[in-house]
Amino acid sequence: MIEEDAFCPKTGAPLSEQTEYDGQGYPRHVALPDEFIAESEPLGELTNGAVTSSKAALFNHFRRCHQRHTEANDRLYRKAALELRRLKRAAEGRANWDVHVWYALQRRLDGKGFDVEWMHAHAELRCPHCHGRLKYELYDNGDVYALCGTNCTGDKADQLETIRETIAALYSRSFADSVDADALLRFHT
Ligand SMILES: [Zn+2]
Repeated sequence: MIEEDAFCPKTGAPLSEQTEYDGQGYPRHVALPDEFIAESEPLGELTNGAVTSSKAALFNHFRRCHQRHTEANDRLYRKAALELRRLKRAAEGRANWDVHVWYALQRRLDGKGFDVEWMHAHAELRCPHCHGRLKYELYDNGDVYALCGTNCTGDKADQLETIRETIAALYSRSFADSVDADALLRFHT
């Protein structure tokens, strides 16, 4: 993930506040060691996060974020590791963007009875075409829709619809099960 949700895409290590210049003169954050990262991992990677991260990075990020909200839960972590493996095996192209994998994982764990509302706080939805920021607006009935901040598709389409379809398709490819795309990521005011 990138920006406020960024972490090292290889290991899941948290990133420094300060940036340093890499060999090409670009400012990048430094991956920092913490208790979720195996000691064998090389430290000091320069990164600003990535749109698509490794399975291990997502899992370490998952555990770290969870423990910001509540105590460690090994049953949840075992389940999350298993489901992440299935998701990452099935995910290709844009379906493999961290934000899509994250929300498919949330839906899966929620369906298994785990409290995973906290996951919303750690992944910002992105335009499914350009990965840019979304602008949220309201329909008259109070439902929320999302436009690409730069209108990259030129048609002012509701991008939440495409995001829901992407997550639902990833979900059914990963698990012998399906979810109703319409029921995903419903925000009401
Ligand atoms: Zn866009």
